[in-house]
Amino acid sequence: MSFVIRCVDCGHETIFHPLSNNCPKCNSQWREAVYNLSEAAQSLAAELPKRRFDLWRYREVLPINKPIPELRMGEGGTPLIRAVNMGLMLGNPNIFIKDERQGPTASFKDRQAALTISTLKEAGITEMVAASTGNVAISNSAYAARAGIKLWAFVTSLVPAVKMREIALYGSQVIKVTGSYDEVKQIAAEFAEQRGLYHDTGARAVTSVEGMKTIAYEIAEQMTEELGLPENAAPGKLRWRTPDWYVQAISGGLGVIGVSKGFREMKQMGIIDKIPGVICIQAEGCAPMVQAWKQNLEEASPVEHPKTHIETLATGTPGRSYKILRKQMQDFQGQFESVTDEEAFRAMHVLAKMEGISAEPAAAAAFAGLFKLIRAGVIKSTDTVVVNCTGHTMTAEPLVLGSGWARNIVIPHEQTAVQEEEGLLAALNRVAPDRFPRIAIIDDTADARRLVRRILQSQGDFTIFEASTGKEGLELVQLEHPDLIILDLMMPEMDGFAVLDSLRSNPDTAEIPVIVSTAKELTKDEKTRLQGQIQVVLQKGDFMLAEFMEEVKALIG
Ligand SMILES: [Zn+2]
Repeated sequence: MSFVIRCVDCGHETIFHPLSNNCPKCNSQWREAVYNLSEAAQSLAAELPKRRFDLWRYREVLPINKPIPELRMGEGGTPLIRAVNMGLMLGNPNIFIKDERQGPTASFKDRQAALTISTLKEAGITEMVAASTGNVAISNSAYAARAGIKLWAFVTSLVPAVKMREIALYGSQVIKVTGSYDEVKQIAAEFAEQRGLYHDTGARAVTSVEGMKTIAYEIAEQMTEELGLPENAAPGKLRWRTPDWYVQAISGGLGVIGVSKGFREMKQMGIIDKIPGVICIQAEGCAPMVQAWKQNLEEASPVEHPKTHIETLATGTPGRSYKILRKQMQDFQGQFESVTDEEAFRAMHVLAKMEGISAEPAAAAAFAGLFKLIRAGVIKSTDTVVVNCTGHTMTAEPLVLGSGWARNIVIPHEQTAVQEEEGLLAALNRVAPDRFPRIAIIDDTADARRLVRRILQSQGDFTIFEASTGKEGLELVQLEHPDLIILDLMMPEMDGFAVLDSLRSNPDTAEIPVIVSTAKELTKDEKTRLQGQIQVVLQKGDFMLAEFMEEVKALIG
């Protein structure tokens, strides 16, 4: 294919070689691949139907002559999954998850590794250096192993041991550095320089950016599959849809820089109409870009001592990546936002318990950012959103799971058969006690009941009862004596107000706390009617986890 490497600073163009890191004219390290896009668009329209759904599908816009069959491991082509339950909880039906856990080494870094190592192999290179907080080294190690390339992996000493061992298993030389991630990168770069080896320069590495770019192409193609062709689609031409927002957690920013470039290219090719707003989430303890963005600064000052447990988000020196992303946001919408580690860990639970997706803490930070921005009204309920689930949990960290995540049964031996059975029953009772806090949900909509049940179950052990009418609800309360009632106000026949009146007039049920949930804003009269009768009013669709659960826990003690 026809492409050149163009210097971002002076415009000088050269042919591509993976070992060349600088512009020969001005020495800038910031260069990008530029393609003949009209030629590429034509070729893609003709060839795509014949190709499998992986990263090499878009080879017309990748800096490689042709994919190397023996290196392929199914990189790219990850699913786009609709977040149905989370969508219900957040009141937004169009939230999609780009599930990058499903790459060969379970993270989105496989894209940059697959492409980078293919170009190195094509150029006959046999040794390389990578600095990493884990995932990059794992991806690179896997592909380097297939390509017969020796990898020197520089990692911070904070990288979990299990990740380090995986890197070593692929045959890479692990070099553990006690220092910040920025220092690790510096040492790795010096080592590579001394030996004349290729080293991954992150957001400045053409193949890394181009590999990440394929996420944008896939999203547009998959959104079109999900939501149908755009209105102005013409036969024989590619026409794809884009979401309103693309959300990702960032450390150095490489991923979003690549994805943004992908969307811009598709717009230039006339494949898409609109470039999505990009939302970059950082960990609050290491959020130099967020701080600079909120103060409207052109440059971001480094964070000297990152304070986050999410080591993959701990890049304290954003450098030029901030400027590039800021320009993207100014030209096409978007913003930076930060979340705390706690918010990220909570989102990790929500994602796993509501959608069956176990994500790495960094990916969970992106979801925490999504929650925050929906709550703030930045992302509207009708907007389409794609969140990048960048990687798998792997080491379910004690920090996230806490203690008590497993219950033990020890079966007593050397007893009579009768004693043994009794011992077993006693043990089972300890594992699953008879009495969990009891909660009754009274709501005429099955979906609404299911949603509340899910939210409750994702946060603890409860015995949950459901009733679908006011009358049924009253009977249920009489029978089961719940510790808490979650009551819908708008129900046919007997509505929530009538249920409340009846509950409060019976001494048996007068004291049971009630959370009222309502789909509409309450009128003044309605509010007066509820006064003194109930504990909390919650707006439906705004069952934002934290506050709802805080209320529940407070009410049941
Ligand atoms: Zn230059």
